[in-house]
Amino acid sequence: ANEDVCTIQILMSDTGGGHRASANALRDAFDVLHPGKIQCDIVDIFTDYGPFWPFTDYPAIYKIMAEYSFLWDWFYHLGASPFGIAVNEFLMELFCFDSFQECLARPSGSTNHRADMVISVHPLCQDVPLKILSSLDTNGQTRSPDARTTPFVTVVTDLGGAHPTWFNKGVNKCFVPTDALYQCARDRNVQPDQLVQYGLPIRRGFWDQASGKEQKTPVQLRQELGLDVELPTVLMVGGGDGMGGIVDIAAEVGDKLGSGSSTPAYQMVVVCGSNEKAKQALSSKQFGDGVKVNVQGFVNNMDEWMQASDAIVTKAGPGTIAEASICGLPCMLFSYLPGQEEGNVPFVENSGFGKFSGDPTVIAETVSSWLASPEKMNSLKEAALQAARPSATLDIAKDLADMVFAQKEKLRAKEPVKVGRA
Ligand code: UDP
Repeated sequence: ANEDVCTIQILMSDTGGGHRASANALRDAFDVLHPGKIQCDIVDIFTDYGPFWPFTDYPAIYKIMAEYSFLWDWFYHLGASPFGIAVNEFLMELFCFDSFQECLARPSGSTNHRADMVISVHPLCQDVPLKILSSLDTNGQTRSPDARTTPFVTVVTDLGGAHPTWFNKGVNKCFVPTDALYQCARDRNVQPDQLVQYGLPIRRGFWDQASGKEQKTPVQLRQELGLDVELPTVLMVGGGDGMGGIVDIAAEVGDKLGSGSSTPAYQMVVVCGSNEKAKQALSSKQFGDGVKVNVQGFVNNMDEWMQASDAIVTKAGPGTIAEASICGLPCMLFSYLPGQEEGNVPFVENSGFGKFSGDPTVIAETVSSWLASPEKMNSLKEAALQAARPSATLDIAKDLADMVFAQKEKLRAKEPVKVGRA
């Protein structure tokens, strides 16, 4: 066992693609900043340690609810009411405390002891894990949060709005990406000295200029990706799961873009994510002569597809919006998950780098009007870059690394550790 490394357990669940993406991004940032010094134990705590259904099936249930957004709307708002929050906390503590405790107590990384620090990147991983840590730190004598000696941090992975369960005033630090979420945290009594605002942690391709990866021009990227080098290029994305009605929207927007000309005037790339059915349906569809269409399934080089494009049409996913802003891409939003992603629409519109419409005609007209005006494209691009936080992932990782190194020192000195609210 290697007792020199610091270990961090990252709690998440694969409800949507964003939580794991953020966890991986933090792990990658630790590797860049402190190679070999910090080991991350990333765990889908519901799938792996849920006591029984439905806890063990949260990712699949989330997928169904997100597809039928009225269900999600109802569930999200019920869960955000004081009654819903209390019921959720009661049921989670009743049913999940023991099995989640196994998760938090497990040996971390290559060591034979539990993690030196715990990070949550999920809205349902605050309350019970905090109680468990107090219990573990005191051998079960008390669950008082004040008795907790293991640092616990929340890194919020939503952007313009967030569920109240993200915010627990017992954490050491809570990282929020935007002013709107800073306020949500304050509304839940998280104190200014607990809050840090940098931006959203996002995957390595968008921030790691130091990785030695050659910076390519949009023309080089288009050639490598098999795209037309000249045509104005619209990228369509429906989130990691390819949801939000991407088939209908892509078909109709493609038809509109393709109808104005007998030779290609646009090219449209549709990234269907893990939605295989959407990929098949769109691959076999005939579009008009005015548009070239390129259909992709799940891509692992989203940074390249974004850098090769002129504008993006997307579901209002926080990760995709943050990534697009870093690439200076104007954003046309076509749907959002009620509650959770609703606040991402004003974030984009008020920052001045995009619009929302659920109507394919309006989407096609808006995007083509942007592409036709170099001044408009410039102002959208400037606004996107202004809203972008490309250094957020490294900034967050730096702070977290400092915390875990300090914790390790305390453990080494074997002084009684009092963390409280750092
Ligand atoms: N993504 C990807 N490949 C795909 C589709 C999506 O890497 O084929 C990534 C995308 O770049 C973003 C994430 O998946 O980082 C989607 O996160 P977002 O918060 O936008 O939506 P979610 O899927 O969580 O609803």
